[in-house]
Amino acid sequence: MAISYDEVITKYDPVLGLEVHVELGTASKMFCGCATVFGGEPNTQVCPVCLGLPGSLPVVNGKAIEYTIAIGLALNCSIAPFSRFARKNYFYPDMPKNFQTSQYDEPICVNGYLDLEVETEDGVKEFRVEIERVHMEEDTGKSLHVGGATGRIHGADYSLLDYNRAGIPLVEIVTKTIEGTGKYAPLVAKAYVKELRDILRGLGVSDVKMEQGSLRCDANVSLRPVGEKKLGIRSETKNVNSLRSVERAVRAEMIRHAGILGSGERVKQETRHFHENTGETTPGRSKEQAEDYRYFPEPDLVPVAPSKEWIEEIRARLPERPSDRRKRLQDAWAVPDKEMAAMVNADVLDLVEESVKLGADPTKARGWWLGEIARIANEREVPASELSISPKDVAKIVELVGKGELTDKLARQVVEGVINGEGSPQEVIEARGFKVVSDDGALLAAIEKAIAAQPDVAEKVRDGHIPAAGALIGAVMKETKGQADASKVRSLLLKTLGQSE
Ligand code: ZN
Ligand code: MN
Repeated sequence: MAISYDEVITKYDPVLGLEVHVELGTASKMFCGCATVFGGEPNTQVCPVCLGLPGSLPVVNGKAIEYTIAIGLALNCSIAPFSRFARKNYFYPDMPKNFQTSQYDEPICVNGYLDLEVETEDGVKEFRVEIERVHMEEDTGKSLHVGGATGRIHGADYSLLDYNRAGIPLVEIVTKTIEGTGKYAPLVAKAYVKELRDILRGLGVSDVKMEQGSLRCDANVSLRPVGEKKLGIRSETKNVNSLRSVERAVRAEMIRHAGILGSGERVKQETRHFHENTGETTPGRSKEQAEDYRYFPEPDLVPVAPSKEWIEEIRARLPERPSDRRKRLQDAWAVPDKEMAAMVNADVLDLVEESVKLGADPTKARGWWLGEIARIANEREVPASELSISPKDVAKIVELVGKGELTDKLARQVVEGVINGEGSPQEVIEARGFKVVSDDGALLAAIEKAIAAQPDVAEKVRDGHIPAAGALIGAVMKETKGQADASKVRSLLLKTLGQSE
């Protein structure tokens, strides 16, 4: 039964739980010395330990522990003086040991929080998301199903396995239940993953590339009738791999759950997959309970017991928080809250900052990234950062407009040309033959010509009827093929006809 989002939120109260897996950017794997570089030839970055060969013994990667502690501190967690690894047992072909070495009941970081500022249609709202735990584990290998139409195991002739990814350090960050977000739930989910991504990037612990799977989000969603305390049954949408999809997947699940509940049925506890093309989720497997994994402490690894001094050393080296950085930039650029939120929301803050560092005026740089460039990014449904225009290009365009070598209108076309791969701003200007006619002589010649062609109009302007000047300005712009600065034409024309404005 289809139900609108507005109807969902008048009847139901959404509760979220977000689990984010992050691949750490360490040079070697979690428990062995194998390389972690992305995209290597299949099965070239493996050894007896990460292939789970009998008799091999794991050793914990110290850098991975350091990175995880840094993440925990940045998320306001307490760091456990003593934590352990466990075996999470299950059979899957891409996991050579048939268990994942993970932290279970003794995670390294617990009880943190992350404060969010979320841009909504009702202005900027603040939410605190509480963090339950941050723990270390390892990634699995990758299966490639060959021969089917969809690339899925169903219908495939055979499957190939690549264990290069098996054993890459992963950190899992789990929130407590997120309640009280109401209709903003999808936006809060997206803002959380985004803020987390920015923090992780700032820490330098991961390349946080969602499209390559180095940061992926599992979104647990449940609904309960408004006013009800008891939690509803949740679904878990796995491995959502873009910020936009996080928002869409939560919204889609809220609508789907409400439809089921509205017809008097029960939501099934299961994992789901989100499909970017349809915007819908489909069922995965029904969810295992923790006991199905037969967790037990890993006998081959010693406990992790970081010293207080080491933890404090890591804390002292933490970089500026993204929220502090935003405040600093907002002050430096004198930007109103709403504009600041718009930049954060469009994910162009880094791009604007970079453009400003390269000499662009903050207001002008912001105008381009939030204006023409954002428009094209929206149209093509990609983030602005993925368009082939750089902060350097934007700084150049701002400079050329400032010097009067480009009009705003031409500059917009230059932006489009750069994005379409026609080269640098200068190359686009050259190739398209853009040259602003700003030299007074050339403009005056065109003005004289326009006056001569429409003497009656010129007479009206001389008599003080200023609006009539529009026809003459239009003629001049036509004569100069749109490459004249319109405001300059206007003032020169009025001066010529004895008017000032
Ligand atoms: Zn290895
Ligand atoms: Mn996990």
